[in-house]
Amino acid sequence: AQKLELITQRLRGFPDFPIKGILFRDICPILKDPKCTAAVTDLFEEYVRKKHPIVDLIVGLDARGFLFGPLLAQRLGVGFVLVRKKGKLPGPVKSLSYDLEYGKADAEIQEDAIAPGQKVLVIDDLLATGGTLCAACELLKVQQAVVLDCLVVVELKDLSGAERLKPHTVFSLVSYD
Ligand code: IMP
Repeated sequence: AQKLELITQRLRGFPDFPIKGILFRDICPILKDPKCTAAVTDLFEEYVRKKHPIVDLIVGLDARGFLFGPLLAQRLGVGFVLVRKKGKLPGPVKSLSYDLEYGKADAEIQEDAIAPGQKVLVIDDLLATGGTLCAACELLKVQQAVVLDCLVVVELKDLSGAERLKPHTVFSLVSYD
């Protein structure tokens, strides 16, 4: 509870960013505080160890999933794989186009990143409409990965991302209505 309190304290909102009408939740103060960053990793680790005894890989989403994912992967002693925006990954890739809360994007993964049947957890900083995580899960399905769960620091409940993600499940540390 103390850890969650600290995380909540370190989250801040910026109105009208990146466009008018959006209240942008900023996770930068979490990372600036090593105790708070450790608290995030502790809570994710605790949840995963309880819920998912076998995990092969952590898959992080561009770009803030790259900040939390490797920390958790190290704790669990597993590897980390990147899902990136279009054109960033070398070699053969699979891509998927999807809609965002504001705009459009393509998600890409290296074809050899995951072996069929590998059990993965997908991690990002924040769940809004669920478009980004959905696209990642779809890409991972093409790779024949087994998505055990999705993990986010923040969930914006009123955008119903968890509904859109079904049948996949999501675990969030902090949620806003
Ligand atoms: P979704 O696809 O609508 O669920 O949006 C989630 C994606 O957009 C994640 O990759 C987030 O990093 C980013 N995002 C959307 N809204 C916010 C926000 O308020 N703060 C930080 N990231 C956000």
